[in-house]
Amino acid sequence: MVAETKFYDILGVSPDATPSQLKKAYRKLALKFHPDKNPSPEAAEKFKEITSAYEVLSDERKRQIYDQVGEEGLSGNGGMGGMGGMDGSDIFSQFFGFGGQREPQGPKRGKDIKHTISCTLEELYKGKTAKLALNKTVICSECEGKGGKNVKKCTTCNGTGMKFVTRQMGPMIQRFQTTCDVCNGEGDIIAAKDKCHTCNGKKVISERKILEVHIEPGMKAGQKIVLHGESDQFPDTIPGDVIFVVDEKPHELFTRKGDDLYYEAKIDLLTALAGGEIGFKHLNGDFLKLELIPGEVISPNKIKVIEGKGMPIQKVGDFGTLFVKFTVEFPPDHFATDEQLKTLENVLPPRPKLEVPKGVETDDSCMLVDYDPVKHSGRRSRSGGGYYDEDEDEEGGQPGVQCSQQ
Ligand SMILES: [Zn+2]
Ligand SMILES: [Zn+2]
Repeated sequence: MVAETKFYDILGVSPDATPSQLKKAYRKLALKFHPDKNPSPEAAEKFKEITSAYEVLSDERKRQIYDQVGEEGLSGNGGMGGMGGMDGSDIFSQFFGFGGQREPQGPKRGKDIKHTISCTLEELYKGKTAKLALNKTVICSECEGKGGKNVKKCTTCNGTGMKFVTRQMGPMIQRFQTTCDVCNGEGDIIAAKDKCHTCNGKKVISERKILEVHIEPGMKAGQKIVLHGESDQFPDTIPGDVIFVVDEKPHELFTRKGDDLYYEAKIDLLTALAGGEIGFKHLNGDFLKLELIPGEVISPNKIKVIEGKGMPIQKVGDFGTLFVKFTVEFPPDHFATDEQLKTLENVLPPRPKLEVPKGVETDDSCMLVDYDPVKHSGRRSRSGGGYYDEDEDEEGGQPGVQCSQQ
């Protein structure tokens, strides 16, 4: 949802338009209404309008502000002051790659600060408010960022803090920008006695601030939470944003894919064949008890789903799916007596009959031995061939035709 759609309407695009769609729409309209092509006053007005709209929407940050608060949020921010004001020729020439490279006017913008905010899957499921302490630079409230009394603009750099220096290097004259040494780049000069005592004339002080970060249920790794203008403050600078990037800690029981959750349920052979109960603690805190109905056979790797028990879907109020994948633990060797095995034979479907292909010689001298990871690792050449019994001299033969265990 966006706060207002005026700028989108002006460009004739929908609020979810991609940057390239915006660009296309602006290009089309700008060419149509550009004063060079269309000298009428109405066209000039229209050109101003579309350019202002595009100026905002093509800037990721301004677009974000506009979407959240509307045009009102842009006044006083970067000197935009809403509509009007600008003639549009700058952005037009930048856009179409001709004309001079004029620096955009208005105050500069400070740097963003990025932090990672690590969350457990439970926290991303339920949502949480994290409080984080941040040391930041703020405008000194004592002198309101002036630095003291009787602040005079530095005449050497005209208050910019920077000056141009020309230097002759051999036959070449080099002109470069450097920090003004008269005011130390401050842009103004304050006598020692007039300096603000709180900031010592620095205009800014360091402050510890507690920021509240709201993790919404269903947020995903990589998602950003932007606290606009919470970054360091400096005079004549729009503070940047503090950006928190969500990170998801791995979970012991669940794996997340988008809005869905995956759980691996270990069951015993009897439960797999004859039913029973399984249970586990869900991310929402509940213990989920599930019944495996007698009669249904759960084969290893079978997947069943529980609808609505996946992750919450952010801002939708719905939930994804919980996938349950079964692994079956078989009983140990010799778990049953010969007699019990006979009973099993009566119960389970009969063994399939071994089919020996006709016209092929049968070799029944092979033996299955237990796999030994050290003895049977990797190289199958030499040393008895790995898969074969030591006594068998199969080396010249084709490997794995008859005796392969795989
Ligand atoms: Zn101060
Ligand atoms: Zn200066």
